[in-house]
Amino acid sequence: MQEVVEKLRAVLAEKAGEIDRNNDMGDVLDLIKSSGILGLMVPEEFGGMGKGYYEACVVGEELGKVSGGVAHSVVVHNMAVDALRLFGSEEQKSEFFPKLVRGIGTIAITEGKGGSDVANAVSMKAEKQGDSYILNGSKTLITNGMYADVFVVVARTGEGAKGLTAFVVERGDGITATKIDLAGMRGSGLASVRFENVEVPESNVLVGEGKGMRVALGTLAPNRIPFSAMGLGIAERCLNLAVERAKKRKAFGGTLADLQAVQFMLADVAVEIEALRRVIYSMAEKMEDPGYEGAVAKILAARVAKKAADVAVEIHGGFGLLSSSEVEMAYRDAKVLDIAEGATEVMKLLVARKIFS
Ligand SMILES: Cc1cc2nc3c(=O)[nH]c(=O)nc-3n(C[C@H](O)[C@H](O)[C@H](O)COP(=O)(O)OP(=O)(O)OC[C@H]3O[C@@H](n4cnc5c(N)ncnc54)[C@H](O)[C@@H]3O)c2cc1C
Repeated sequence: MQEVVEKLRAVLAEKAGEIDRNNDMGDVLDLIKSSGILGLMVPEEFGGMGKGYYEACVVGEELGKVSGGVAHSVVVHNMAVDALRLFGSEEQKSEFFPKLVRGIGTIAITEGKGGSDVANAVSMKAEKQGDSYILNGSKTLITNGMYADVFVVVARTGEGAKGLTAFVVERGDGITATKIDLAGMRGSGLASVRFENVEVPESNVLVGEGKGMRVALGTLAPNRIPFSAMGLGIAERCLNLAVERAKKRKAFGGTLADLQAVQFMLADVAVEIEALRRVIYSMAEKMEDPGYEGAVAKILAARVAKKAADVAVEIHGGFGLLSSSEVEMAYRDAKVLDIAEGATEVMKLLVARKIFS
């Protein structure tokens, strides 16, 4: 795994700017598909590496150090794999895991009406017809929407929260994706995805009809920790860039690094990164309450990455705001951590629920 990650990092160090500018992975997509990294969390008997959340964090962190867009794509792919790992039947695993070792997966829950209030916002219809369901509707803000070969889709089969059902759907006729031009984590294949009369066999339902919320929440919760590790990587990238700049930039007869105010700014960031790293890896090693722990990690990661990016831009001065600047890219990437895979305020609701229970 280490070798694969090193190789990807080396390529991304060269290509991250281009991926960001084009909002497209380009030929890095093929490299990712052929590298073996997509099989990270796929069990070995299905051709994967059989690794867990800890290793998913290592990958999220390492890729986050170079490209937010690619890191996000891989983290969300792992989420689709995990949905199948946690909720798939043996038949579903045999059919779809091999496809997720070399192909990209995603999880499609959010719709135009909202992403936080899933129980009420999902209106994509899944109508039963014989042994199949017919899916009609649109998802939006879907990471990997442009690239995915396999979608885990939450659609409506009835009323309210118990009227949601999760399906594994292969890309094919009736599925069209439209790229979204977003501010940060560009190149993640973010798209709106339309499903028009897409026939899905009943055997592709995860767990059972009406269990879509369980699949969505049960998958998102633990995977917010690798998602947060990506934020750790972004924060580390910012700290390194800021330290390098401070050491080189001449001012007031020395360098910026000689100024104690600058040293303290960076020391504060380093302290927060250290704390975040320990939180993430201790949680990934032993998860006891994924809903709570995932929320804590995600709130902290967004906070630390945003602060690190802010300080890095500050240290780079006006040059940090140039669209060609690496810290400007990190600044845009960091904000995504507040919103994707559950908004910070919704994460706080999960923490509040725990402390008041
Ligand atoms: C880059 C990116 C990638 C994404 N990838 C995916 C993906 O792969 N699959 C997928 O299904 N979705 C994905 N999403 C969607 C994401 O999960 C939603 O954007 C997120 O859940 C918030 O939903 P919303 O955007 O509809 O905001 P809304 O639900 O409209 O909320 C807007 C804001 O209101 C506040 N708010 C909402 N509810 C509450 C509350 N109860 N209490 C207090 N404040 C609240 C929060 O500040 C929130 O940011 C992605 C989003 C982004 C930006």
